Amino acid sequence: MAHGLDPERLSAQFDEIDRLNDHVEGLQLLKSCEVDILADGKLDLPDSILKRLDFTVCAVHYRFDLDIEAQTRRILRAMDNRCFNILAHPTGRLLGERPGYAVDLDRVIDGARERGCFLEINAHPTRLDLDDVHCRQAREAGVKLSISTDAHSTVGLNAMRYGVDQARRGWIEAADVLNTRPWKELKPLFSR
Ligand SMILES: [Zn+2]
Repeated sequence: MAHGLDPERLSAQFDEIDRLNDHVEGLQLLKSCEVDILADGKLDLPDSILKRLDFTVCAVHYRFDLDIEAQTRRILRAMDNRCFNILAHPTGRLLGERPGYAVDLDRVIDGARERGCFLEINAHPTRLDLDDVHCRQAREAGVKLSISTDAHSTVGLNAMRYGVDQARRGWIEAADVLNTRPWKELKPLFSR
């Protein structure tokens, strides 16, 4: 989206992260990116770049007007890509601003389970999707969730508590949440 990284700049970022990981003791930076799901369900970065990421967070940011069938198929098609790990803000709603797009979350949850993908609980106070009902449904389906702040600055990290509260409303426990794990346990969950 705004000033998004193209493959070239992302590749330069990978090199910089590798350099830091080699040189700074006790630090491990992961490579990731929020990747747009295009209208046809493709991802907006080539697989050759996606494969170099430790994990991906993929999201719908435009074409909210698709009907429920087309929007659901768009997301499932994106999940078919083996580089797809986490579906960010799964409904696209912005509280007090706009409703979410039409999407069949039953099929998205089932599709995530079948493909080994995960869904996000977005902790930003204007998002908070998944909602409580779908959090619980994901858990019952055996789909793990990430709780993400959607932070665009360090201040944004303070939103984590809202995501945790949202998760608790959906009866989510620590074991259901991806990012309660150390990297060595998380890593295999991202290899499809
Ligand atoms: Zn986003």
